[in-house]
Amino acid sequence: MHKKLFIPGPVEVYPDVLKVLGTPMIGHRTKEYADMHGQIKSKLQQLLYTKNKIYLVTSSGTGIMEACSRNLVNKRAAHFVCGEFGERWFEISTLNGKEADKFSVELGKAIKPKMVDQALATGKYDTVFITHNETSVGVMNPLKEIAAVVKKYPEVVFCVDAVSSMAGAKIEVDAYGIDVCLASMQKGFALPPGFAICSISNKALERTKQVKNRGYYFDFLVFDQFDAKNQTPTTPSVSHMFALNYQLDKILKEGLDNHFNRIKELSATCRKWVLDNRFKLFTEPGYESVTMTTAENTRNVDINKLNEELGKRGYMISAGYGKLKDKSFRIAHMGETTVAELKELLSVMEEVIKTLSPLVESKK
Ligand SMILES: *Cc1c(COP(=O)(O)O)cnc(C)c1O
Repeated sequence: MHKKLFIPGPVEVYPDVLKVLGTPMIGHRTKEYADMHGQIKSKLQQLLYTKNKIYLVTSSGTGIMEACSRNLVNKRAAHFVCGEFGERWFEISTLNGKEADKFSVELGKAIKPKMVDQALATGKYDTVFITHNETSVGVMNPLKEIAAVVKKYPEVVFCVDAVSSMAGAKIEVDAYGIDVCLASMQKGFALPPGFAICSISNKALERTKQVKNRGYYFDFLVFDQFDAKNQTPTTPSVSHMFALNYQLDKILKEGLDNHFNRIKELSATCRKWVLDNRFKLFTEPGYESVTMTTAENTRNVDINKLNEELGKRGYMISAGYGKLKDKSFRIAHMGETTVAELKELLSVMEEVIKTLSPLVESKK
């Protein structure tokens, strides 16, 4: 039986989208392709409230994260970390031989603007990296407020991993002054994994020109050269692009505000369920993600068993990430999920939890 995915990536891909993915192939150097490429870019500019350029990249989101480290850090990077994906970005910078420092908060807590201000005030940094929605813990960092702080430092290039928030939460790229805002397809866009996009500012491109050893596959200047012709340097995943174009039409037709409000309603529904069912919210109050909910497993439910039973009924959620595996569980509510569908999952969960005996912690 297919399990409907309520995990924070990949999320459920609906049958109409799967069908569009099967559109007959076209050549990537044809006019037909370039037209589609151009359409996708302008729709993404609408979604992101930006006039910045948009790159369409055939890789998972991590590819663009690496591209940012590699293309943009000249002096020293400041990484703000509140979970696994932030950790990974820091690791990517250091593995690429970049000078980088990590500023971390306790798991479940958000990055605060003051912390960013204090780091940047040292004058040591030319690039800032932050995860908007930290999927490992379900924290949504206060991007708008952080962006206002970063703006005070015009020499700093500002990169945002919006993999699990783009197309789920409103991100006003130009108003906030984000230089690179990146995401992959398998979260808010509700498409299969393997493709990614970013917006990029002229400031970021100017920086890139000063940075050496950018490689080829992820060189922003190579991207830029082809972007001018509505093409990509290498053969792109055209199938993803058929589906992305289709998906963006759906989002724009729903209306951006309606779309973002539906996601907010999903998160309110899920949070209420968590509290009504005597669990706690894992994340710092006021910084809960809108695209997913992380519950603290205060009732000591056997999450493995819960998921096994949900699987038999055609659903799947996620355990906590890494060391939070038994201590929390995560429910994603982004993409095309409707409130009715989420409620269906939650009522099945409620029934299943009643039948499970609490987990007895094994001492090692
Ligand atoms: C899923 C995720 C990633 C990784 O994206 P890939 O497409 O798997 O490379 C990075 N950052 C965040 C916040 C994510 O949720």
